[in-house]
Amino acid sequence: MHCPFCQHEDTRVIDSRLTDDGTTVRRRRECPQCGERFNTFETAELKLPAIVKSGERREAFDERKLRTSFERALQKRPVAADAVEQALRNVVADLRKATEREVPSRHVGELVMRELKKLDQVAYVRFASVYRRFEDVQAFREEIEKLERDMPGLEAAQLSLLGEAAVPPPAGRRGRG
Ligand SMILES: [Zn+2]
Repeated sequence: MHCPFCQHEDTRVIDSRLTDDGTTVRRRRECPQCGERFNTFETAELKLPAIVKSGERREAFDERKLRTSFERALQKRPVAADAVEQALRNVVADLRKATEREVPSRHVGELVMRELKKLDQVAYVRFASVYRRFEDVQAFREEIEKLERDMPGLEAAQLSLLGEAAVPPPAGRRGRG
């Protein structure tokens, strides 16, 4: 690599180390001519697929949007920041593994739901209720019932946190406490 200071044609690597998260190699280089030192960073070039929105609109994947989705769903929920970060990384990693150059935004939504389901049931329902735009109250109720079956400990009190999305309890469960 050329020296960025004196343009000498070669520089020497005097140190090489991996960053803490293991994703980047930092090399310390020295120019034998002018003696200047500088760093270079090496990371894997991984391309994320374009996201195809409804109506065939395409846009570049935006990690900030993904983060916002997680944050909205998890607002005021007792989930550790580290766990959220990991969930985000999982979604991005899956998108990177996608062999297609484009993925439908629906697919990204499904990945987010998968992660939220592992993190927090209430956040999952919040996201799913907005994301899937449940066609009617019945569809939403069915999703809640499915969750209750999957996770018997899910309290009605938690579901009341859904606020506006709250639906009356299913007929069959009324009066059971
Ligand atoms: Zn130099």
